[in-house]
Amino acid sequence: MKTIGFIGLGIMGAPMARNLVSAGFTVRGYDLSDSAVAELASAGGVATESIADAVDGADVVATMLPADPHVLSVVLGEDGVLEHLKPGTLLIDFSTVTPDTSRKVASAGAEKGVRVLDAPVSGGQAGAVDGVLSIMVGGSPADFEAAQPVFDAVGKVAALVGPSGSGQVVKAANQLVVGGTYALVAEAILLMEASGVDASAGLDVLAGGLAGSRILELKRRSMLAREFDPGFRIDLHHKDMGIVLDAARRAELALPFAFQVAAHVQAARALGLGDRDHSALLAVAERFTGR
Ligand code: NAD
Repeated sequence: MKTIGFIGLGIMGAPMARNLVSAGFTVRGYDLSDSAVAELASAGGVATESIADAVDGADVVATMLPADPHVLSVVLGEDGVLEHLKPGTLLIDFSTVTPDTSRKVASAGAEKGVRVLDAPVSGGQAGAVDGVLSIMVGGSPADFEAAQPVFDAVGKVAALVGPSGSGQVVKAANQLVVGGTYALVAEAILLMEASGVDASAGLDVLAGGLAGSRILELKRRSMLAREFDPGFRIDLHHKDMGIVLDAARRAELALPFAFQVAAHVQAARALGLGDRDHSALLAVAERFTGR
């Protein structure tokens, strides 16, 4: 397993591809953005000009694309990934999409003898850069085993959580917790600021106690400064809350906080913050409280 075709070199895909280069893989990168491809080439990867060019003859193909339509068109579309793979190739989709899309891709792959894993990740841009992502995997145990060298290069923890589509369900659970945590940290910041205490020192204490989290660890400074450069865009979190609510509906579960978090994310978009980091849920809380 030496050559990887990597499609989608954005905020997450670019550092993941670079870490695969560092781990000794030949990484053939493709993205709609020429500058993203050129940056990978300058880091030791191979620049390609089409999906076919990136994946022809590859042992593994990895995709890290924004949402369902991108994955469906890149993988299943005309002149897409599946048209170019030989049987036995491993296709790892790191994108966050619906479980239905992952199952669709897996069954189309199976018809061609291509082994497919859905492997959405958590850890944000920092986790991708440091190669310490958490990877939630749906697929077969044998394919999960075969993908270990790839997972080792980009992540710290990889868990097989069930058959195709299961990784996406766990990722939806992850996004519920992440969105809810941001919304609550935002309210905690406003409470401290409005009460006249030192919110910066307050957050340091929170980060060290039971309320501590990766979000408080990594984002408390930028949130206090109202710096919302992405990171993870509100628009992507909106897509993910749609996956959460759909999964809840299918499981016939009433999840009131999930609706609340989805509403906050929707409000952030309505405020024109779709392109900002999801920590911009603080701006929603400010509007809501009139501060
Ligand atoms: P991004 O928009 O920065 O990157 C996506 C890349 O895909 C872009 O470079 C874009 O040009 C490329 N692309 C789109 N359509 C393409 C096509 N047809 N052919 C080739 N390239 C194409 O997004 P991102 O933040 O890297 O997120 C990617 C996925 O990872 C999303 O599903 C997101 O939900 C998930 N995710 C993101 C984060 C994060 O912190 N940013 C964390 C975990 C998971």
